Amino acid sequence: MIVTEIFYGVKCDRCGELYEDGEHSFWNDESSVIENAYESEWRELKGKHYCEGCHEINEETDEIVVFADYPQHLKTLNSFIDRIVKGLSRKVFEYESDFQVKFKLYKYSRLEESEENYIKNLLGENFSSLEYEVGKYDSKSCIIKIKR
Ligand SMILES: [Zn+2]
Repeated sequence: MIVTEIFYGVKCDRCGELYEDGEHSFWNDESSVIENAYESEWRELKGKHYCEGCHEINEETDEIVVFADYPQHLKTLNSFIDRIVKGLSRKVFEYESDFQVKFKLYKYSRLEESEENYIKNLLGENFSSLEYEVGKYDSKSCIIKIKR
């Protein structure tokens, strides 16, 4: 007998990061996922959800302040990466002078040459560098640096 079950996850409306608590990224019901995400400083505003890195709380008013939208080239890069890495984690780090997009490479140890070229063309003069990093248990990540 085949049983179908639905699981719930929450994704940041700004950076697209999927909430995970270290063990799971999907829960049996909506309230459990929201509750867990809140414990990790995720917040909801006008029906949208924002991860820890995409908002701050105004200490005087207690209001949620969502950071400025990503530039279009970064949004396009993120959706391209999400298509090629299919559900593996991708994170965006923001620094004063650049953004860094870091994601795991599962099947391949590096991107195809055509994918690298696509990324460089897409970012144009905002492209800074593309590097590979070997992490724990021989896992491989790709880090793309982008000028702001
Ligand atoms: Zn976010």
